[in-house]
Amino acid sequence: MNDKKSSFKNELKIISPIAVGIAIAAFAAMLILFAVLPKGPHDLPPFPGWFLLGLLAGLMLSAWVLLIGYINSDAARRGMGRVLWTFIAALVPNCLGILAYFLVRKPILRPCPGCGLEISPDFRFCPKCGFSLAPSCTHCGRRIEHDYVCCPYCGKMVGATGQAPVVPNHG
Ligand SMILES: [Zn+2]
Ligand SMILES: [Zn+2]
Repeated sequence: MNDKKSSFKNELKIISPIAVGIAIAAFAAMLILFAVLPKGPHDLPPFPGWFLLGLLAGLMLSAWVLLIGYINSDAARRGMGRVLWTFIAALVPNCLGILAYFLVRKPILRPCPGCGLEISPDFRFCPKCGFSLAPSCTHCGRRIEHDYVCCPYCGKMVGATGQAPVVPNHG
């Protein structure tokens, strides 16, 4: 894994604008609700903390909406049931659906360099075109790169013995 650097900010970018819109609306709704509530028919005593409570409720609700929005986009790029996981995250109480998602989520799919098929990063060969995704040294078995001629671990030549040849893909 050399892309661990993908920051929190970048992760947030995958949330669809629709989910962001719903989160903002939910935040505003909570603020309005808590501003109106004390003046309602219940005749609640005036409490200066109503606004803060509304703020807190709004923040929690919009964070929850954003999390579901994140799962909705994230499940798609991991080849998981997008609709199913969105429903689980939204409907299972106490955020257990959201928790379950983060426990079981699969690694992000990547396009195969050979044919562009979205495949799991733990695959060693592309199931469609046979591209060797994680070539290893035929002598010592350690992972090498495609363009290595000589294994950096055991020093044996690997270019000629070769791994599964790169199948040229003429579209
Ligand atoms: Zn492929
Ligand atoms: Zn080697």
